[in-house]
Amino acid sequence: MADNNAKNGQGFATRMSHAGRAGTRAHGFVNPGVHRGSTVLHPNSESRRAFQKDKWNRVMTYGTAGGPTQYALEDVVAEIEGGTRCVLVGTGLAAVTVPLMAYLKTGDHCLMPDSAYGPARNVCNGLLKDWGVETTYYDPLIDEAGIRALIRPNTKVVYTESPGSHTFEVQDVPAIARAAHAAGCVVMMDNTWGIHHFMPFQHGVDVSIQALTKYVGGHSDVLLGSITVNSEKDYEIVRGAASQMGHFAAPDDCWLALRGARTMPIRLKQQEKSGLEVAHWFENRPEVQSVLHPALPSHPQHALWKRDFTGACSLFGVVFKPHYTEADIFKFIDSLKLFGIGASWGGFESLALPTTGFITRTATSPDLGGFTVRIHIGLEDVGDLIADLTQGLATLPK
Ligand SMILES: *Cc1c(COP(=O)(O)O)cnc(C)c1O
Repeated sequence: MADNNAKNGQGFATRMSHAGRAGTRAHGFVNPGVHRGSTVLHPNSESRRAFQKDKWNRVMTYGTAGGPTQYALEDVVAEIEGGTRCVLVGTGLAAVTVPLMAYLKTGDHCLMPDSAYGPARNVCNGLLKDWGVETTYYDPLIDEAGIRALIRPNTKVVYTESPGSHTFEVQDVPAIARAAHAAGCVVMMDNTWGIHHFMPFQHGVDVSIQALTKYVGGHSDVLLGSITVNSEKDYEIVRGAASQMGHFAAPDDCWLALRGARTMPIRLKQQEKSGLEVAHWFENRPEVQSVLHPALPSHPQHALWKRDFTGACSLFGVVFKPHYTEADIFKFIDSLKLFGIGASWGGFESLALPTTGFITRTATSPDLGGFTVRIHIGLEDVGDLIADLTQGLATLPK
Protein backbone atom coordinates (compact mmCIF):
# COMPACT_ATOMS: atom_id res chain seq x y z
CA MET A 1 0.00 0.00 0.00
CA ALA A 2 1.18 3.56 -0.72
CA ASP A 3 2.75 5.61 2.01
CA ASN A 4 0.06 6.48 4.48
CA ASN A 5 -0.99 9.74 5.95
CA ALA A 6 1.91 11.82 4.69
CA LYS A 7 2.36 15.01 6.68
CA ASN A 8 4.15 18.14 5.48
CA GLY A 9 4.99 16.16 2.37
CA GLN A 10 6.95 13.59 4.37
CA GLY A 11 6.09 9.92 4.53
CA PHE A 12 5.74 7.77 7.62
CA ALA A 13 9.16 6.12 7.41
CA THR A 14 10.90 9.51 7.12
CA ARG A 15 9.02 10.85 10.11
CA MET A 16 9.74 7.73 12.18
CA SER A 17 13.45 8.19 11.43
CA HIS A 18 13.45 11.77 12.66
CA ALA A 19 10.70 12.17 15.29
CA GLY A 20 11.71 12.55 18.92
CA ARG A 21 15.31 13.39 18.17
CA ALA A 22 15.50 17.18 18.26
CA GLY A 23 16.84 18.30 21.60
CA THR A 24 17.46 14.77 22.84
CA ARG A 25 20.73 14.12 21.02
CA ALA A 26 23.36 13.41 23.58
CA HIS A 27 26.89 14.62 22.93
CA GLY A 28 26.36 14.32 19.18
CA PHE A 29 25.15 10.72 19.26
CA VAL A 30 22.14 9.96 17.09
CA ASN A 31 20.01 8.48 19.87
CA PRO A 32 19.00 9.86 23.24
CA GLY A 33 20.66 8.14 26.17
CA VAL A 34 18.85 6.09 28.78
CA HIS A 35 18.37 8.50 31.66
CA ARG A 36 17.68 6.32 34.67
CA GLY A 37 16.86 8.01 37.89
CA SER A 38 14.66 8.88 40.81
CA THR A 39 16.19 12.05 42.30
CA VAL A 40 16.61 15.12 40.12
CA LEU A 41 18.96 17.69 41.64
CA HIS A 42 18.22 21.40 41.54
CA PRO A 43 20.87 24.11 41.55
CA ASN A 44 19.20 25.97 44.46
CA SER A 45 16.02 26.12 46.57
CA GLU A 46 14.31 28.78 44.50
CA SER A 47 14.74 26.66 41.36
CA ARG A 48 13.19 23.71 43.17
CA ARG A 49 10.11 25.79 44.09
CA ALA A 50 9.71 27.15 40.55
CA PHE A 51 9.84 23.64 39.11
CA GLN A 52 6.88 22.46 41.20
CA LYS A 53 4.49 24.96 39.58
CA ASP A 54 4.90 23.65 36.07
CA LYS A 55 4.56 19.94 36.54
CA TRP A 56 3.22 18.69 33.16
CA ASN A 57 5.48 20.74 30.95
CA ARG A 58 8.44 18.42 30.82
CA VAL A 59 10.13 19.93 33.79
CA MET A 60 12.28 17.22 35.27
CA THR A 61 11.41 17.19 38.95
CA TYR A 62 11.50 13.49 39.82
CA GLY A 63 11.91 10.18 38.01
CA THR A 64 8.17 9.50 37.85
CA ALA A 65 7.64 12.72 35.87
CA GLY A 66 9.80 11.24 33.11
CA GLY A 67 12.96 12.45 31.44
CA PRO A 68 14.58 12.79 28.01
CA THR A 69 14.11 9.13 27.03
CA GLN A 70 10.38 9.17 27.81
CA TYR A 71 9.88 12.59 26.16
CA ALA A 72 11.46 11.32 22.94
CA LEU A 73 9.12 8.31 22.84
CA GLU A 74 6.09 10.47 23.72
CA ASP A 75 6.84 12.60 20.66
CA VAL A 76 7.27 9.56 18.45
CA VAL A 77 3.97 7.98 19.55
CA ALA A 78 2.06 11.27 19.16
CA GLU A 79 3.50 11.41 15.61
CA ILE A 80 2.42 7.81 14.87
CA GLU A 81 -1.20 8.54 15.82
CA GLY A 82 -1.42 12.18 14.77
CA GLY A 83 -2.25 13.43 18.28
CA THR A 84 -0.87 16.34 20.25
CA ARG A 85 0.53 14.60 23.34
CA CYS A 86 1.00 11.15 24.76
CA VAL A 87 1.14 9.62 28.24
CA LEU A 88 3.33 6.52 28.59
CA VAL A 89 2.53 3.72 31.03
CA GLY A 90 4.15 0.38 31.84
CA THR A 91 1.87 -1.92 29.81
CA GLY A 92 -0.77 -1.83 27.10
CA LEU A 93 -3.27 -2.95 29.72
CA ALA A 94 -2.45 0.06 31.92
CA ALA A 95 -3.11 2.22 28.85
CA VAL A 96 -6.62 0.71 28.82
CA THR A 97 -7.34 1.02 32.55
CA VAL A 98 -5.91 4.52 33.19
CA PRO A 99 -8.25 6.48 30.88
CA LEU A 100 -11.27 4.38 31.94
CA MET A 101 -10.51 5.25 35.57
CA ALA A 102 -9.74 8.86 34.66
CA TYR A 103 -13.10 9.57 33.01
CA LEU A 104 -15.52 7.28 34.91
CA LYS A 105 -16.84 8.08 38.38
CA THR A 106 -19.27 6.36 40.73
CA GLY A 107 -22.74 6.40 39.16
CA ASP A 108 -21.42 6.68 35.59
CA HIS A 109 -22.14 4.35 32.71
CA CYS A 110 -19.72 3.00 30.08
CA LEU A 111 -20.39 1.46 26.65
CA MET A 112 -17.93 -1.27 25.65
CA PRO A 113 -17.83 -3.23 22.40
CA ASP A 114 -18.47 -6.93 23.01
CA SER A 115 -15.29 -7.63 21.03
CA ALA A 116 -12.99 -5.63 23.35
CA TYR A 117 -9.65 -7.03 24.49
CA GLY A 118 -10.47 -9.50 27.31
CA PRO A 119 -8.61 -7.73 30.14
CA ALA A 120 -10.53 -4.51 29.29
CA ARG A 121 -13.70 -6.43 30.16
CA ASN A 122 -12.09 -7.60 33.40
CA VAL A 123 -11.58 -4.05 34.66
CA CYS A 124 -15.15 -3.09 33.72
CA ASN A 125 -16.56 -6.18 35.46
CA GLY A 126 -14.10 -5.87 38.36
CA LEU A 127 -12.79 -2.62 39.84
CA LEU A 128 -15.11 -0.30 37.91
CA LYS A 129 -18.20 -2.33 38.85
CA ASP A 130 -17.08 -2.40 42.50
CA TRP A 131 -16.74 1.38 42.39
CA GLY A 132 -20.30 1.78 41.10
CA VAL A 133 -19.61 2.21 37.38
CA GLU A 134 -21.95 0.23 35.14
CA THR A 135 -20.90 -1.18 31.77
CA THR A 136 -23.13 -2.18 28.87
CA TYR A 137 -21.55 -4.39 26.19
CA TYR A 138 -22.72 -3.56 22.70
CA ASP A 139 -22.57 -5.34 19.35
CA PRO A 140 -19.37 -3.96 17.71
CA LEU A 141 -21.29 -3.68 14.40
CA ILE A 142 -23.71 -1.17 15.93
CA ASP A 143 -24.64 1.95 13.93
CA GLU A 144 -25.08 5.57 14.98
CA ALA A 145 -28.74 5.17 15.96
CA GLY A 146 -27.88 2.04 17.93
CA ILE A 147 -25.32 3.88 20.05
CA ARG A 148 -27.72 6.80 20.48
CA ALA A 149 -30.32 4.37 21.85
CA LEU A 150 -27.87 2.89 24.38
CA ILE A 151 -26.63 6.23 25.72
CA ARG A 152 -28.13 7.15 29.10
CA PRO A 153 -27.96 10.50 30.90
CA ASN A 154 -25.05 9.10 32.96
CA THR A 155 -23.08 7.58 30.04
CA LYS A 156 -19.61 9.15 30.07
CA VAL A 157 -17.43 6.87 27.98
CA VAL A 158 -18.03 5.19 24.64
CA TYR A 159 -15.18 2.76 24.09
CA THR A 160 -14.19 1.25 20.73
CA GLU A 161 -11.70 -1.30 19.49
CA SER A 162 -11.46 -1.93 15.76
CA PRO A 163 -11.04 -4.56 14.55
CA GLY A 164 -12.23 -6.52 17.58
CA SER A 165 -9.95 -8.82 19.55
CA HIS A 166 -10.01 -12.37 18.11
CA THR A 167 -13.18 -11.81 16.04
CA PHE A 168 -11.90 -8.90 13.88
CA GLU A 169 -15.16 -6.96 13.41
CA VAL A 170 -14.44 -3.51 11.93
CA GLN A 171 -16.40 -0.81 13.74
CA ASP A 172 -17.94 2.31 12.21
CA VAL A 173 -15.93 4.52 14.57
CA PRO A 174 -16.92 7.88 12.98
CA ALA A 175 -20.63 7.04 13.32
CA ILE A 176 -20.21 5.85 16.90
CA ALA A 177 -18.22 8.99 17.71
CA ARG A 178 -20.92 11.26 16.24
CA ALA A 179 -23.58 9.71 18.48
CA ALA A 180 -21.24 9.80 21.50
CA HIS A 181 -20.19 13.42 21.04
CA ALA A 182 -23.79 14.56 20.50
CA ALA A 183 -24.45 13.28 24.04
CA GLY A 184 -21.24 14.75 25.49
CA CYS A 185 -19.44 11.40 25.91
CA VAL A 186 -15.72 10.78 25.59
CA VAL A 187 -14.73 8.40 22.77
CA MET A 188 -11.87 6.00 23.51
CA MET A 189 -10.29 3.56 21.14
CA ASP A 190 -7.86 0.71 21.50
CA ASN A 191 -5.95 1.35 18.26
CA THR A 192 -3.28 -1.34 18.68
CA TRP A 193 -4.26 -3.21 15.48
CA GLY A 194 -4.61 0.00 13.44
CA ILE A 195 -1.37 1.58 14.77
CA HIS A 196 -0.79 4.15 12.02
CA HIS A 197 -3.17 2.68 9.46
CA PHE A 198 -6.10 4.16 11.37
CA MET A 199 -5.72 7.80 12.36
CA PRO A 200 -7.96 7.99 15.44
CA PHE A 201 -8.28 11.78 15.74
CA GLN A 202 -9.40 12.12 12.12
CA HIS A 203 -12.27 9.76 12.91
CA GLY A 204 -13.69 11.31 16.07
CA VAL A 205 -11.66 9.52 18.75
CA ASP A 206 -10.68 11.61 21.80
CA VAL A 207 -8.37 9.18 23.60
CA SER A 208 -6.34 6.57 21.71
CA ILE A 209 -4.77 3.54 23.36
CA GLN A 210 -1.82 1.54 22.03
CA ALA A 211 -0.03 -1.51 23.35
CA LEU A 212 3.47 -0.42 22.28
CA THR A 213 4.36 -3.99 23.30
CA LYS A 214 3.19 -5.02 19.83
CA TYR A 215 4.59 -3.52 16.59
CA VAL A 216 6.29 -0.45 18.07
CA GLY A 217 8.43 -2.62 20.36
CA GLY A 218 8.41 -5.13 17.54
CA HIS A 219 10.84 -7.64 19.07
CA SER A 220 8.80 -9.37 21.83
CA ASP A 221 11.18 -8.00 24.44
CA VAL A 222 9.30 -5.11 26.03
CA LEU A 223 5.94 -4.30 27.66
CA LEU A 224 4.72 -0.72 27.28
CA GLY A 225 1.53 1.26 26.68
CA SER A 226 0.55 4.70 25.45
CA ILE A 227 -2.48 6.95 25.77
CA THR A 228 -2.51 9.63 23.08
CA VAL A 229 -4.83 12.63 23.08
CA ASN A 230 -5.53 15.60 20.87
CA SER A 231 -6.32 18.37 23.39
CA GLU A 232 -4.71 19.87 26.48
CA LYS A 233 -7.90 19.18 28.45
CA ASP A 234 -7.75 15.46 27.75
CA TYR A 235 -4.01 15.46 28.38
CA GLU A 236 -4.47 16.91 31.86
CA ILE A 237 -7.21 14.39 32.73
CA VAL A 238 -5.20 11.37 31.56
CA ARG A 239 -1.82 12.60 32.82
CA GLY A 240 -3.35 13.53 36.17
CA ALA A 241 -4.89 10.08 36.64
CA ALA A 242 -1.72 8.23 35.57
CA SER A 243 0.29 10.38 37.94
CA GLN A 244 -2.08 9.89 40.90
CA MET A 245 -1.93 6.12 40.42
CA GLY A 246 1.86 6.19 40.17
CA HIS A 247 2.06 4.91 36.62
CA PHE A 248 5.45 5.15 35.03
CA ALA A 249 7.28 3.88 31.95
CA ALA A 250 10.85 2.76 32.60
CA PRO A 251 13.52 4.56 30.54
CA ASP A 252 15.17 1.31 29.41
CA ASP A 253 11.83 0.09 28.05
CA CYS A 254 11.16 3.45 26.38
CA TRP A 255 14.57 3.25 24.75
CA LEU A 256 13.75 -0.19 23.35
CA ALA A 257 10.42 1.09 22.00
CA LEU A 258 12.19 4.10 20.43
CA ARG A 259 14.62 1.75 18.71
CA GLY A 260 11.66 -0.33 17.52
CA ALA A 261 9.78 2.71 16.18
CA ARG A 262 12.64 3.64 13.82
CA THR A 263 12.19 0.42 11.84
CA MET A 264 8.47 -0.05 12.39
CA PRO A 265 7.28 1.42 9.05
CA ILE A 266 9.39 -1.02 7.04
CA ARG A 267 8.55 -3.97 9.31
CA LEU A 268 4.85 -3.15 9.11
CA LYS A 269 5.00 -2.94 5.33
CA GLN A 270 6.67 -6.35 5.06
CA GLN A 271 4.41 -7.96 7.67
CA GLU A 272 1.28 -6.54 6.04
CA LYS A 273 2.40 -8.05 2.71
CA SER A 274 3.36 -11.46 4.15
CA GLY A 275 0.24 -11.50 6.35
CA LEU A 276 -2.02 -10.93 3.35
CA GLU A 277 -0.20 -13.56 1.35
CA VAL A 278 -0.71 -16.16 4.09
CA ALA A 279 -4.34 -15.03 4.64
CA HIS A 280 -5.09 -15.47 0.91
CA TRP A 281 -3.40 -18.86 0.98
CA PHE A 282 -5.52 -20.00 3.94
CA GLU A 283 -8.65 -18.77 2.22
CA ASN A 284 -8.01 -21.14 -0.68
CA ARG A 285 -7.40 -24.19 1.50
CA PRO A 286 -10.18 -26.81 1.63
CA GLU A 287 -9.75 -27.22 5.43
CA VAL A 288 -10.66 -23.56 6.05
CA GLN A 289 -14.17 -22.16 6.50
CA SER A 290 -13.22 -18.47 6.53
CA VAL A 291 -10.36 -16.07 7.18
CA LEU A 292 -10.99 -13.09 9.46
CA HIS A 293 -8.77 -10.44 7.90
CA PRO A 294 -10.33 -6.99 7.23
CA ALA A 295 -8.15 -6.44 4.14
CA LEU A 296 -9.61 -9.50 2.38
CA PRO A 297 -12.56 -8.63 0.12
CA SER A 298 -14.44 -11.56 1.73
CA HIS A 299 -14.40 -9.86 5.15
CA PRO A 300 -17.94 -8.65 6.00
CA GLN A 301 -16.74 -5.13 6.85
CA HIS A 302 -14.10 -4.91 4.13
CA ALA A 303 -15.71 -1.75 2.68
CA LEU A 304 -15.63 -0.05 6.09
CA TRP A 305 -11.97 -1.03 6.55
CA LYS A 306 -11.18 0.37 3.11
CA ARG A 307 -12.94 3.63 3.92
CA ASP A 308 -11.17 4.27 7.24
CA PHE A 309 -7.86 2.36 7.21
CA THR A 310 -4.85 2.86 4.93
CA GLY A 311 -3.40 -0.59 5.56
CA ALA A 312 -3.39 -3.66 7.78
CA CYS A 313 -1.11 -5.29 10.28
CA SER A 314 -0.30 -9.01 10.22
CA LEU A 315 -2.77 -10.38 12.80
CA PHE A 316 -5.85 -12.29 11.65
CA GLY A 317 -8.07 -15.27 12.43
CA VAL A 318 -8.53 -18.56 10.62
CA VAL A 319 -11.83 -20.42 11.13
CA PHE A 320 -11.59 -24.13 10.32
CA LYS A 321 -14.42 -26.23 8.88
CA PRO A 322 -16.77 -27.29 11.69
CA HIS A 323 -16.10 -31.01 11.42
CA TYR A 324 -12.58 -30.65 12.85
CA THR A 325 -12.30 -31.30 16.57
CA GLU A 326 -10.27 -29.37 19.09
CA ALA A 327 -7.81 -32.28 19.16
CA ASP A 328 -7.38 -32.05 15.36
CA ILE A 329 -6.61 -28.34 15.51
CA PHE A 330 -4.27 -28.71 18.50
CA LYS A 331 -2.37 -31.36 16.52
CA PHE A 332 -2.10 -28.96 13.56
CA ILE A 333 -0.79 -26.14 15.77
CA ASP A 334 1.61 -28.40 17.66
CA SER A 335 3.08 -29.71 14.41
CA LEU A 336 4.18 -26.23 13.25
CA LYS A 337 7.92 -25.61 13.45
CA LEU A 338 8.07 -21.87 12.71
CA PHE A 339 4.98 -20.69 14.63
CA GLY A 340 5.19 -20.20 18.38
CA ILE A 341 2.16 -20.81 20.58
CA GLY A 342 1.70 -17.74 22.73
CA ALA A 343 -0.12 -14.52 23.51
CA SER A 344 0.89 -11.05 22.29
CA TRP A 345 1.84 -10.23 18.69
CA GLY A 346 3.63 -7.59 16.61
CA GLY A 347 7.07 -9.14 17.05
CA PHE A 348 9.43 -10.42 14.36
CA GLU A 349 8.30 -14.02 14.89
CA SER A 350 5.15 -15.80 13.75
CA LEU A 351 2.57 -17.16 16.19
CA ALA A 352 -0.43 -19.48 16.08
CA LEU A 353 -2.85 -19.30 19.01
CA PRO A 354 -5.98 -21.43 19.49
CA THR A 355 -8.76 -18.96 20.40
CA THR A 356 -11.98 -21.01 20.52
CA GLY A 357 -12.98 -21.31 24.18
CA PHE A 358 -10.88 -18.26 25.15
CA ILE A 359 -13.32 -15.68 23.80
CA THR A 360 -15.91 -14.07 26.09
CA ARG A 361 -18.95 -12.46 24.47
CA THR A 362 -22.18 -11.46 26.21
CA ALA A 363 -23.97 -9.23 23.65
CA THR A 364 -23.08 -11.28 20.57
CA SER A 365 -22.20 -14.92 19.85
CA PRO A 366 -18.58 -16.07 20.22
CA ASP A 367 -19.34 -18.95 17.83
CA LEU A 368 -17.55 -18.31 14.55
CA GLY A 369 -18.80 -21.56 13.00
CA GLY A 370 -15.66 -23.61 13.53
CA PHE A 371 -12.51 -23.89 15.61
CA THR A 372 -10.52 -20.67 15.33
CA VAL A 373 -6.78 -20.03 15.35
CA ARG A 374 -5.29 -16.55 15.58
CA ILE A 375 -2.29 -16.14 13.31
CA HIS A 376 0.44 -13.53 13.64
CA ILE A 377 2.85 -13.29 10.73
CA GLY A 378 6.39 -12.19 11.54
CA LEU A 379 9.40 -11.38 9.40
CA GLU A 380 10.30 -14.91 8.29
CA ASP A 381 10.37 -15.69 4.54
CA VAL A 382 6.76 -16.19 3.60
CA GLY A 383 7.53 -19.27 1.47
CA ASP A 384 8.94 -21.01 4.54
CA LEU A 385 5.86 -20.10 6.59
CA ILE A 386 3.52 -21.48 3.92
CA ALA A 387 5.60 -24.67 3.65
CA ASP A 388 5.36 -25.12 7.41
CA LEU A 389 1.59 -24.51 7.39
CA THR A 390 1.21 -26.95 4.49
CA GLN A 391 2.90 -29.77 6.43
CA GLY A 392 0.80 -28.79 9.48
CA LEU A 393 -2.49 -29.04 7.58
CA ALA A 394 -1.40 -32.49 6.34
CA THR A 395 -1.79 -33.73 9.93
CA LEU A 396 -5.56 -33.05 9.79
CA PRO A 397 -7.81 -36.06 9.15
CA LYS A 398 -8.99 -36.38 5.54
C1 LIG B 1 -1.81 -6.85 23.90
C2 LIG B 1 -2.94 -5.93 23.90
C3 LIG B 1 -3.14 -5.02 24.94
C4 LIG B 1 -2.32 -5.04 26.20
O1 LIG B 1 -0.96 -4.85 26.03
P1 LIG B 1 0.09 -5.40 27.11
O2 LIG B 1 1.28 -4.55 26.89
O3 LIG B 1 0.31 -6.84 26.79
O4 LIG B 1 -0.51 -5.18 28.47
C5 LIG B 1 -4.18 -4.13 24.82
N1 LIG B 1 -5.00 -4.12 23.76
C6 LIG B 1 -4.84 -5.00 22.75
C7 LIG B 1 -5.78 -4.94 21.59
C8 LIG B 1 -3.82 -5.93 22.79
O5 LIG B 1 -3.69 -6.82 21.80
